[in-house]
Amino acid sequence: MNEKIWLSSPHMSGNEQAYIKDAFDTNWVAPLGPNVNGFESDLQSFLKEDTHVAALASGTSALHLSLILLNVGQGDEVICQSKTFSASANPIVYQGATPVFVDSERETWNMCPEQLEIAIKDRIEKGNKPKAIIAVHLYGMPYKVDEINKVAKAYNIPVIEDSAESLGSHYKGQNCGTFGDLAILSFNGNKIITTSGGGALVAPTKELKDKAVFLATQARDNAPHYLHSHIGYNYRMSNIVAGIGRGQMTILDSHVSKRRSNHEFYQSEFKHIDKISFLKEPEGYFSNRWLSCILLDSKDTREGLRLALEKENIESRPLWKPMHQQPIFKDAPSYLNGVSDELFEKGLCLPSGSNLTDMELDRVKTAINSFFEKC
Ligand SMILES: *Cc1c(COP(=O)(O)O)cnc(C)c1O
Repeated sequence: MNEKIWLSSPHMSGNEQAYIKDAFDTNWVAPLGPNVNGFESDLQSFLKEDTHVAALASGTSALHLSLILLNVGQGDEVICQSKTFSASANPIVYQGATPVFVDSERETWNMCPEQLEIAIKDRIEKGNKPKAIIAVHLYGMPYKVDEINKVAKAYNIPVIEDSAESLGSHYKGQNCGTFGDLAILSFNGNKIITTSGGGALVAPTKELKDKAVFLATQARDNAPHYLHSHIGYNYRMSNIVAGIGRGQMTILDSHVSKRRSNHEFYQSEFKHIDKISFLKEPEGYFSNRWLSCILLDSKDTREGLRLALEKENIESRPLWKPMHQQPIFKDAPSYLNGVSDELFEKGLCLPSGSNLTDMELDRVKTAINSFFEKC
């Protein structure tokens, strides 16, 4: 059997262990220390000098704290892109609030600004103005930032930018992770850079960052004993994990180039197959191409191809199943136009790692070509 080709696997630079060793040598084996501070400042200089980054245990915890910072609570409604990973929506429920799902448009596969406005108007009419909007740059492709922000501003609703998949992407020259009232990043094992598990909250002010760190470290008030006037969380990133992050930051740009070149490879190798199409990068959009996705002509072709790849020990995966189709969210209000359902039926993510070799890419190409020759 050929060796397994993964969809997206961790890719170390070789610099990580020096930072970890330093943490051990200086005994900073704790959820604070020089690597945490260093990783935060590396992220800040990468994103934009006047951002304030809090390194956390995960992207999910960053979303949870974002909702808390925006005072989302029991009985509130929060709008969320339907086409996403469940981690975008779950923290809404942690807060006792209700998610309201909004469908996608075809140009970026992300939240449709028209459906967003329809949803907001309808929720206001029903007497519950949404407290926040969670928009996602899926697979690294920026959402329609100007259009979404315009609607959000018109109704004065803050945007939480879920940038878990889009570190290294930009829109009109500005980095993803800097557009929302708050933004979140993820460094899970499959993301463009990884700390094994981890995340970050990107805030526009030091006050908000400090508040996030306070909540993430058990909300301990300033006193010699343990004093608490808020419910706290244990959401801070450890100094060991942050060491991996510092090493990963040294190769982020090359990971972006490699992922983009994977996508270009697929695009040029499969342009003769008319049953395959790709998501184009609109003018002004720059995707890190975290995952390379293709659209097939039907659900049957998609599933046939997935199984054919599996036989060759090549991992591929249907696009995110929309949240409005998930059993756990079946009763949540949803504003739909059919786009995310169709993308789920016809879309497939191909191996996309920055560590893919030419030989592995060639195996994927051969497997896909031979599937279409047979059918
Ligand atoms: C990975 C991911 C998250 C969650 O991040 P974790 O670090 O795994 O908690 C949230 N949203 C999206 C879109 C993601 O892909």
